[in-house]
Amino acid sequence: MKIRQGFVSNSSSSSFCLIGLRTSISRFQEEQEVRNCRCEVENIESMKFCPKCGKTVMTTTTDWIEGVDDDGVGSFSFECDYESDDLFIYLPGTYAYSYDYDVELTELPDNIYEQKAALKELAEKYGIWDESKFGFWSGQRYS
Ligand SMILES: [Zn+2]
Repeated sequence: MKIRQGFVSNSSSSSFCLIGLRTSISRFQEEQEVRNCRCEVENIESMKFCPKCGKTVMTTTTDWIEGVDDDGVGSFSFECDYESDDLFIYLPGTYAYSYDYDVELTELPDNIYEQKAALKELAEKYGIWDESKFGFWSGQRYS
């Protein structure tokens, strides 16, 4: 799925709106060396290839950093687009979504500015706060 601006005819689309911070998925992920197979072999850590299955012993995977997962970080949720590396961290209760030409009403929470302050505090810990990337975002996906 892809987030784009503009309109493309003859395609199914869905839209989302949210209040939050735009950043990138890669800021919350890191590469990790992990075992490539589950074979039980003594001293396998010292070998390059597994003598039982022939796979390389270790492989590199990309995963969320500590305290972060697909659902989000802390009390905040994510809207992700892996193709573009886009990541939105949004305030609870501010996410709305619709298909094609449906409309949906999402009532906004009363404490938006307190939530923004909490998001700012959290984002600053990760070094990703950028006032110019915080606001009311809308996006569209085409499939
Ligand atoms: Zn193996």
